[in-house]
Amino acid sequence: MVTNTPAPTRDRPRTVLIAGAGIAALEAALALRSHLDSDRLAITVLAPNDRFRYPALAVLEPFGAAAAWSMPLQAFADDVGVELRHGVLGDVDVAGRVARTSEGVALPYDGLLLATGARSDRSLDGATPFRGAHDADRVADLLERVARDGGGTVAFVAPATVSWSLPVYELALLTAAHLQAAEIPARVLVVTHEADPLALFGDDAQAIARDKLARHGIELHAGAAVVGLGEDGWIELDDGRRIAADHVVAMPELHPRTVPGLPTDDAGFVPVDEHARVLGAPGVYAAGDVTSGDVKQGGLACQQADAAAEAILADLGHPIAPAPYRPVLRGILLSDEEPEYLRSALAAEQPPAPREPRVRRLAWPQGKIVGHHLSPYLAGRGDGPRTPDGAVPVAGSDRAG
Ligand SMILES: Cc1cc2nc3c(=O)[nH]c(=O)nc-3n(C[C@H](O)[C@H](O)[C@H](O)COP(=O)(O)OP(=O)(O)OC[C@H]3O[C@@H](n4cnc5c(N)ncnc54)[C@H](O)[C@@H]3O)c2cc1C
Repeated sequence: MVTNTPAPTRDRPRTVLIAGAGIAALEAALALRSHLDSDRLAITVLAPNDRFRYPALAVLEPFGAAAAWSMPLQAFADDVGVELRHGVLGDVDVAGRVARTSEGVALPYDGLLLATGARSDRSLDGATPFRGAHDADRVADLLERVARDGGGTVAFVAPATVSWSLPVYELALLTAAHLQAAEIPARVLVVTHEADPLALFGDDAQAIARDKLARHGIELHAGAAVVGLGEDGWIELDDGRRIAADHVVAMPELHPRTVPGLPTDDAGFVPVDEHARVLGAPGVYAAGDVTSGDVKQGGLACQQADAAAEAILADLGHPIAPAPYRPVLRGILLSDEEPEYLRSALAAEQPPAPREPRVRRLAWPQGKIVGHHLSPYLAGRGDGPRTPDGAVPVAGSDRAG
């Protein structure tokens, strides 16, 4: 809803600068625009990328079940009425409310939202990384090697630094189904630091995951902290145990992208309050993987971006009572069977999560990454990303052979 908040008594509308053009940034831009039109609020999005990429369906690509989805950022900018600037945030003068690009261009702002995500690095030397669509070919090649060899052991690893482990289970389930369909006698393993599979979603989700893994013949090594890969292909655990594997696929570690002038926690991520205001930096807000939160996930990034947008508007004088960030984790577990729709309230002060974490598909907001504004925006595009609402076909694709 666009309201008639009086324009500021200055010769330009207030300016919100959003650094980044990923999940949190786009959700925040849509949230801000839902309150104020471009005569009342100027929004600038600063990012080095020309396209917005949707990461959550990347797990389907090695199996030829989906192509990478992206859209030009300029199309988003035109749709939403934001200015797009190509560049990288270099540093911030918090007191002066001026951001500078790495090339030294000064960008004054009234509110700055940091939505620059996290750097995704290899977590395990010698393993095949899976950081998203750009690693899909590596996994497809690995599956072809298993087929050529007539079998082998493939392990999917969630190292201790990975909080969002769902892609590990999706890749393992799809791999097992693909190899079984091709009648290749391979072993598939999940090796995870979690005490139980999908532990973040609670007891019932764990039971669902265990059951699915067992029915797919996947060996589960839970509570396993991987410290390295031996030359001989063994996965080495911190308690001295070793697990044999011919091929290892590992989820990445997320590392902070620090911006000079802004505070960080000990790990280098940006500390925020429950309204996504950066601690000790008035006028600066942060949302998504760049922040200190334990769980880094797209749906949470959107919820935090919504809280940030409301706090920005309130701090700029818009009559709104900003809602705090109260994270609710939502995930769709894709496999060769019907998808599982999972949900869990993460904030301690929220009522306990319902015992049954399964959510009916009809009650699910659109899309695999759930954003209050982003999901309907993407669904409204004729060519938007399409999350499968049934079993993922894994056999007989050209890609997976
Ligand atoms: C394989 C895979 C599957 C996933 N599946 C799911 C899922 O099913 N559901 C889910 O909710 N989440 C999922 N996620 C997690 C989700 O993709 C991330 O948590 C989410 O993208 C984080 O959003 P963000 O906006 O914080 O960061 P990003 O989306 O990474 O965006 C960061 C943006 O900042 C830009 N940037 C970086 N540095 C600068 C700078 N200095 N100045 C300006 N711009 C900068 C980048 O170019 C980018 O545009 C998955 C992730 C992966 C890798």
